[in-house]
Amino acid sequence: MHELPKLPYAKDALAPYISEETLDYHYSKHHQKYVDEVNRLLEGSTLENNTLEQVVLNSDGALFNNAAQAWNHNIYWECMSPNKTPMPQTMDHAISESFGSYEAFLHQFKQASLKHFGSGWVWLVVDSTGRLSITSTVNAGTPLTDHMSVALACDVWEHAYYLDTRNDRGSYIDNFFQVVNWDYVSHLAFSTSSPG
Ligand code: MN
Repeated sequence: MHELPKLPYAKDALAPYISEETLDYHYSKHHQKYVDEVNRLLEGSTLENNTLEQVVLNSDGALFNNAAQAWNHNIYWECMSPNKTPMPQTMDHAISESFGSYEAFLHQFKQASLKHFGSGWVWLVVDSTGRLSITSTVNAGTPLTDHMSVALACDVWEHAYYLDTRNDRGSYIDNFFQVVNWDYVSHLAFSTSSPG
């Protein structure tokens, strides 16, 4: 049985950037539904006792869509925090090396989010040399299947922001970066262990 992981903060903790109502629906309804569907679809399947990551890598169709969405959201929640901490030096350095500056990185990430058509995700990924790049995936798509290491996940499905900023995805991206947990992102990017 796969379980909805505990949210690492209270549902109102990211307000005013991400509202309690958005977090409540996004986590308790959308994410929960993906997990429930994974469990339902896995019943009697050969992948039943596999990790979520293995299910993502070895499935297609509805099972892939729900498993990948469950996995993507697990990362997404951890990428945010109400506690603002300074960016770790390793990440700061990698961003400068890869994008020129933090401002240039933000601009590029926001442009990728705005240009992404329809539902999906925008990611910061890292290659084996430590170089960062921005990529996006459609619907449940995930860098996991391309064997890319994820550093940061940003959900750009309308359910992630429509209650807060309506059709203004750009303002959601601005809000998202007010609550990014750079300690976690840096850990994910530069530690060798893979995320759950
Ligand atoms: Mn979502």
